[in-house]
Amino acid sequence: TALLDTLTFNNRFLRELPADPDTANHPRQVTGACYTRVEPAKVSNPELVAFAWEVAEQLDLTPEIMESEAFLQVLAGNRLLDGMDPYAMCYGGHQFGNWAGQLGDGRAIILGEVMNRRGEPSTLQLKGAGPTPYSRMADGLAVLRSSIREFLCSEAMHHLGVPTTRALSLVVTGEQVVRDILYDGNPRPEPGAIVCRVAPSFIRFGNFEIFAARGEIDLLRQVVDYTIRNDFPHLGDVTPDTAKAIYTAWYDEVCRRTAEMIVHWMRVGFVHGVMNTDNMSILGLTIDYGPYGWLEDYDPNWTPNTTDAGQRRYRYGQQPQIAMWNLAQLGNALYPLVEDVDPLQDALNTYSKTFNEGWKSMMAQKLGLNAFEPETDDDLIKELQTVLQLVETDMTLFYRNLARVETGMAGHGDDEALMAPLLDAYYSPEELTGEYRARIGTWLRRYLARVGRDGTPDALRRERMNAVNPKYVLRNYLAQLAIDQAEQGDYSMVRDLLELLRHPYDEQPEQEEYAKKRPDWARHRAGCSMLSCSS
Ligand code: AMP
Ligand code: MG
Ligand code: MG
Repeated sequence: TALLDTLTFNNRFLRELPADPDTANHPRQVTGACYTRVEPAKVSNPELVAFAWEVAEQLDLTPEIMESEAFLQVLAGNRLLDGMDPYAMCYGGHQFGNWAGQLGDGRAIILGEVMNRRGEPSTLQLKGAGPTPYSRMADGLAVLRSSIREFLCSEAMHHLGVPTTRALSLVVTGEQVVRDILYDGNPRPEPGAIVCRVAPSFIRFGNFEIFAARGEIDLLRQVVDYTIRNDFPHLGDVTPDTAKAIYTAWYDEVCRRTAEMIVHWMRVGFVHGVMNTDNMSILGLTIDYGPYGWLEDYDPNWTPNTTDAGQRRYRYGQQPQIAMWNLAQLGNALYPLVEDVDPLQDALNTYSKTFNEGWKSMMAQKLGLNAFEPETDDDLIKELQTVLQLVETDMTLFYRNLARVETGMAGHGDDEALMAPLLDAYYSPEELTGEYRARIGTWLRRYLARVGRDGTPDALRRERMNAVNPKYVLRNYLAQLAIDQAEQGDYSMVRDLLELLRHPYDEQPEQEEYAKKRPDWARHRAGCSMLSCSS
């Protein structure tokens, strides 16, 4: 048990914000409070599938602790450590463009906030740990398939340099959970699982929206002040004199952080899939990995979420606009505290400006250019986006391969030789008509001429491009293969992918298989391209 004294709990959210006086654990509306105390459900036979040792290390947890039977019980929700005081947060949200009322942590339970030896705070949250008052019609549980997807993707995103919540551990519970009913009417039981998520804070836009929507302005002010005090202390002390200025400065920073996060998503080809305002972190972290996906074929209209297949609200190419719409909802929620539209509108403009500038310089980096130059690069990039959509082109492989196209080839007039390094990015070679080859040849010459004006040597350009264009991403079919094996009790691929994705920009010669484009069998296989919200 001495092992388990490592964690020091601080629990500021609990200490500084009002609790639900009612602790009855049944679905209900919770008013006048920011959270409800609730214990994780007990599970029968937990087993550790994998853990992220860097996250453990950040929490001062040794591998011995992580692999101990006692700590497994903690990660499964069976055992509470001294200082843990579990609770579920109350929040609301706009789902698919409509106000959805109270949502809240329906399958996530916060164990507490810990301080590591360097004084850095982290909140630990079990996802899939049983029902809470916010569970509405559902069971509060998570299945192995979706837990693997969250565990692997949050770590992959971190190592890609994308702001994200982290994942400490993945355990199976020993329980069976039913999500799907088969065509014959029978339930399909799946292994239950729990991910321990870690973030400085799990507060979402919806944590503010709920109190504004209910007219609970005093609570709204308390959550805003709490967030600024604890997560944005550099903005200064909120006093009656400074309050309005600090609130707008804070909103401006949220707009900026969100823009930076979306630029990263666009860079790596990540599609969140459910950008509801309850899934938007106030810290600008990627949060709530559900039916997300990675662009394989570069198609801005693609969304992995079957629930959104008609409207495609959350498609790849629309993520920047949706983030802004979500920020506008947050701005509306803050209006009662600021009582002035102009500064809120200015902050939204900050979003557009930050996103547009960030996107341009990100695209310049993807192309290995020194900087974005509007006179030439606007058109260069526009034409590239058009060309990428003419035939089925793997986004990840395309940029990685583009780094291998050589400036010396531009003068030869031979499109074949020029585009040779790109070939394995194409899904259907028969689409590579003479017309297409001529068009990409023209673009490549323009591109190489542009590179030539920068004067960057090929080797340096390649190095720079490979530092922003990943070689390894969590391709949808790879996650599905790891899931298939894990459901048979073999967790080795989960662990292998976790290790692989720790170095997404490095050449890993033993792991070439994982860099390849999606095989044809995976094109229409469930889980490999389209997913539902229960994912
Ligand atoms: P999500 O689509 O995962 O962001 O969830 C939207 C809302 O539904 C949140 O309030 C979740 O906590 C809740 N929710 C999703 N799945 C479950 C579940 N299996 N049990 C209880 N609540 C859930
Ligand atoms: Mg959510
Ligand atoms: Mg296409």
